[in-house]
Amino acid sequence: MFEFFRRNKPKKGPIVCARPDHCISRKNIDPDALRVLYRLSDLGYEAYLVGGGVRDLLLGRVPKDFDVGTSAHPNEVRRAFRNCFLIGRRFRLAHVRFGQKVIETATFRASSQSVGDIIAHAAEGPMEDNTYGTPETDANRRDFTVNGLFYDIKTFAVIDYVGGLEDLKRRVIRSIGDPMIRFREDPVRMMRAIKFSSRLDFTIEKNTEKAIRKLHSCITTAAPPRVCEEVFRLFSYGAGTKAFKMMYRYGLLHDLLPDLSDFIDGDGGEDSSTWLYMSVLDRFEKAMHERGYDVPNGLRAAVLYTAMARKIGSRKALGTMLSSLKIPKATYFPAIFMIDSTRRFRQKPADGRWRFVGHRDFPDALDYNRIVARAEGLSEQVLDQWADLYNQQGDEK
Ligand code: ATP
Ligand code: MG
Repeated sequence: MFEFFRRNKPKKGPIVCARPDHCISRKNIDPDALRVLYRLSDLGYEAYLVGGGVRDLLLGRVPKDFDVGTSAHPNEVRRAFRNCFLIGRRFRLAHVRFGQKVIETATFRASSQSVGDIIAHAAEGPMEDNTYGTPETDANRRDFTVNGLFYDIKTFAVIDYVGGLEDLKRRVIRSIGDPMIRFREDPVRMMRAIKFSSRLDFTIEKNTEKAIRKLHSCITTAAPPRVCEEVFRLFSYGAGTKAFKMMYRYGLLHDLLPDLSDFIDGDGGEDSSTWLYMSVLDRFEKAMHERGYDVPNGLRAAVLYTAMARKIGSRKALGTMLSSLKIPKATYFPAIFMIDSTRRFRQKPADGRWRFVGHRDFPDALDYNRIVARAEGLSEQVLDQWADLYNQQGDEK
């Protein structure tokens, strides 16, 4: 009779959502990603579409990139493709190249190997064989449940080890595993939670949110280039205002850009004019995205700091972004140029204009000034004259 109590609980397998029960169609998957998946599968390996691609397809969004997870080891992936390069020393990722496009193909990882670990230990050389894991361990080392889904090329089913399907339905961002542990392990995940929540219009699950409130200051221990990259990603898809307001509310903005956060505090907080400029930038980001263009980071930085620069000057304002976030000079100098260009753009084109119009950052500065004019409700007539001049530039020179 006691035998019954000692028996192990049956191990719970993943939730499998069969082809008729989900909306992912191969028509919407990049043909080169499909090529990689089929080839690996034909060679007898497990091959799944993983991560953000699966999430976005299930949401009916167009994925930015398609990543592949496989049971094939990096050398086996390399042997399977002529156009394949291995990158990274410790955890080797295979990049299968098709012209400019790269299909990132990663061997299933063991649970403790997160992207943060890989980057932090990149210099230590190749990892042991036990680096590699199973689909289940690979799903569990990912950041949020909605990012831990797999699409199986063999059965066309979606495989869910982490409860991501339910969270997609309920539109929540939930940490995989204890958020207090996962955010300490890699504090950049807190910014990623904000990015996905603002971009997808999802709420952040209660415990995940609580952990951000507690651990936000750990963000200062993360590697500056990764933090900087995530800061600029917050602007994309026209969700910048929402994302930066969340950064402000959770204290992350104060950790990363204390001067800007203090300025916003003294400028009305949630009603600061910073948000006015940011909301016009959001519309611009959306329009650019629809046309397939990226918005330059210099323009983004300039808009974020416009209100503050009005008070203390462009150099002083943006200097704080340079010192605390270590933004590249290639972002900093164009941003200064844009903010300082407003004086010129408010006057009709006059003599000596060609040097200004011929400046490398002139087109971005013109876009910047349109954003500012719209936020401030000013006429764009003079800006149109500058735009005409820019368009004639080629003919007259
Ligand atoms: P995007 O649409 O912005 O590219 P994404 O979800 O594809 O969003 P990526 O940064 O491209 O995000 O990362 C791909 C996948 O790798 C994620 O979906 C997630 O599963 C995993 N991942 C990325 N960064 C981390 C991290 N810091 N910790 C754990 N897993 C991560
Ligand atoms: Mg991605």
